[in-house]
Amino acid sequence: MMSSDTPTGGSTRPGGGSGLDPRLRRAQARHAFAILVLPAIGSLIAIGIAVHDGGVPAAALVILLVSYMATYAGITVGLHRLFAHRAFETTPWLRAVFAVLGCMAAQGPAIYWAANHRVHHIRSDRDGDPHSPRIANGRQLGRWEGFWHAQAGWTFSHRPADVFAVTRDLTRDRRLMWINQRYLWWVALGLILPALAGALAIGGIRGAVLGLLWGGAVRLTLSYHFTNAINSLTHMIGTRPFGGRNTSTNLWPIALPTLGEAWHNNHHAFPTSARFGLAVWEVDIGWWIIRSLEAVGLAWNVRRPLPESISAKRAAAAAGMQVDDDDRVTA
Ligand SMILES: [Zn+2]
Ligand SMILES: [Zn+2]
Repeated sequence: MMSSDTPTGGSTRPGGGSGLDPRLRRAQARHAFAILVLPAIGSLIAIGIAVHDGGVPAAALVILLVSYMATYAGITVGLHRLFAHRAFETTPWLRAVFAVLGCMAAQGPAIYWAANHRVHHIRSDRDGDPHSPRIANGRQLGRWEGFWHAQAGWTFSHRPADVFAVTRDLTRDRRLMWINQRYLWWVALGLILPALAGALAIGGIRGAVLGLLWGGAVRLTLSYHFTNAINSLTHMIGTRPFGGRNTSTNLWPIALPTLGEAWHNNHHAFPTSARFGLAVWEVDIGWWIIRSLEAVGLAWNVRRPLPESISAKRAAAAAGMQVDDDDRVTA
């Protein structure tokens, strides 16, 4: 579900890996390399310092937790449920906050991310799906090759979605476009804020460096791999209570760090639902955030599946029937 394209989110025509403008292709590869490699190097340095110092200051871990939760909420509540699927409505300023937080995760500009993800649902596990572990550029992938492609490889070479075709509703939102075009500002802000927090909470240059490493590099490494695990692992292993014409699965071990994204088979079955964890025990922090916003009047038209639709689809899947993703949800 991650995107990595032109840093400004500019649209390109779908052209396939080889048909892409060479300049855009280089920009895509640079962005993909930067987000994969630089945070990984920073994370290794953070671990090296921790080993040398014999531990990590509690404040650095708090900075990591807070920055991770905020920016991952930007991904799952903002880019995914709000922008890509329009699963609920909220105020203009909260849309802006979620867009900025989502951009801070450095997985591509907000609108591009949403466009790319819509293509994933339209073309799930078929040619044109940007990050299926099954197929890429018309070629069937082996198991490990498919895992690598869905986890990271696709970011270097996927077919960019045409944002003006796929996400016209979002490109018409001028405030959102303004934020989108300043994508790199927000990525930088996502590094500056934890460094400042570190300087204040831990102290001095050392505090700033630790804040940057834990709230920047380690956070980005974790959010990159957990987000892409939804592209890879939850299209490879796990349970499929709703079946569907795709390989999506539910995978409980990563439900907590993905703030509910791991209920991915549920999500493919009911893509416009704001709620991914459909059972009480299916931990879905993204849903709890939306539900809380709804309770205080900051979210409305919150879509969730009809109970009869859930039971009908579950029964159909248990009977071995192929069921399409549908939108039988209520507002
Ligand atoms: Zn999927
Ligand atoms: Zn989705």
